Amino acid sequence: MGRLVDRRAIRSASVVAAIVVGGAAALVTRATAQQNQNVNAVQMDVQQVSGNVYMVAGAEGNGNTTLFTGPEGVLVVDTQAAPLSGKILDVVRTLTDQPIRWIVNTHMHGDHVGGNEPLAKAGRTRAGGNVVGDIGQAATSTARIIAHENALNRLVMADPPVPPAALPTDTFFNEQRDMLFNGEAVQMFHQPKAHTDGDIIVLFRHADVLSTGDLFTTVMYPFIDEANGGTIDGYIKALNNIIAITVPSNVNEGGTMVIPGHGRLSDEQDVIEYRDMVTIVRDRIKEYVKRGMTIEQVKAKKPTLDFDARYGSDTGFWTTSKFIEVIYRQMAAANPPPKGTKPAPRKGNE
Ligand SMILES: [Zn+2]
Repeated sequence: MGRLVDRRAIRSASVVAAIVVGGAAALVTRATAQQNQNVNAVQMDVQQVSGNVYMVAGAEGNGNTTLFTGPEGVLVVDTQAAPLSGKILDVVRTLTDQPIRWIVNTHMHGDHVGGNEPLAKAGRTRAGGNVVGDIGQAATSTARIIAHENALNRLVMADPPVPPAALPTDTFFNEQRDMLFNGEAVQMFHQPKAHTDGDIIVLFRHADVLSTGDLFTTVMYPFIDEANGGTIDGYIKALNNIIAITVPSNVNEGGTMVIPGHGRLSDEQDVIEYRDMVTIVRDRIKEYVKRGMTIEQVKAKKPTLDFDARYGSDTGFWTTSKFIEVIYRQMAAANPPPKGTKPAPRKGNE
């Protein structure tokens, strides 16, 4: 039934192209409703990735959103910036009449949690079991927001403060959280000290789709957010965990599809190439640190040169230079250079 409703909805949406990505047939639709003058220019690209899982890509610089629809309602992974919420809701409405029940935040950055409040308020908690009896009728008035405990702790301490209605309502602090929703298994795995210290990846087991948040992107070097607990070694571990979970695609059967935090829909091979790139750069800088080189000497060696055309940037909040510096600092801390050399000064984070 849910499937039938979804298909009808998709057909009625304005379908502009049908593309094949990594063996999975994907529909590209465009949400055309325009609610907010400021975001009129933004077009949400919607791809049906597999089963009832969709990838919603919005403005450049904003994270990707994953939607999972079904008879019980909608689960949303990452909510982009608040002004885009109307557009995300428009996309939801083209797919299903069911309310948003769950929001999952892969981590605490604003381009992934910005729409929490409006999307939660547009949704509803499923009033089953003891929920209403336990916490009253208000329990059914908004969708619930899942995140790792560390992400909530960072959001609570954020400056400027995050409004209470935007904060995660359901956190977990162990390695994993499993849930059954729309009759399908959804699994969340914490990846410690990677992009931040509160990153989770979200696996839709039946559809075979993995949402990685910013533990994988196709458009930039990994942002190691040191101020929020990120480390280069944890990031590489997370990429290896993603590769362990995903199954390769081949010509006849689509493998696991990977929805990155930013950039295009991917598969395991894309993650392998990215993991190899990050590992090579880390290992080069580690070697230079062991030789006692200064940060200036390391930069002069251009340890990212062969990857800069694709991932490098001299502008914006995450430059190639900052990427090299954070790896240098962390490698120097783990592998103290010989006496007589100075580690790079620690700089503030964006
Ligand atoms: Zn992020």
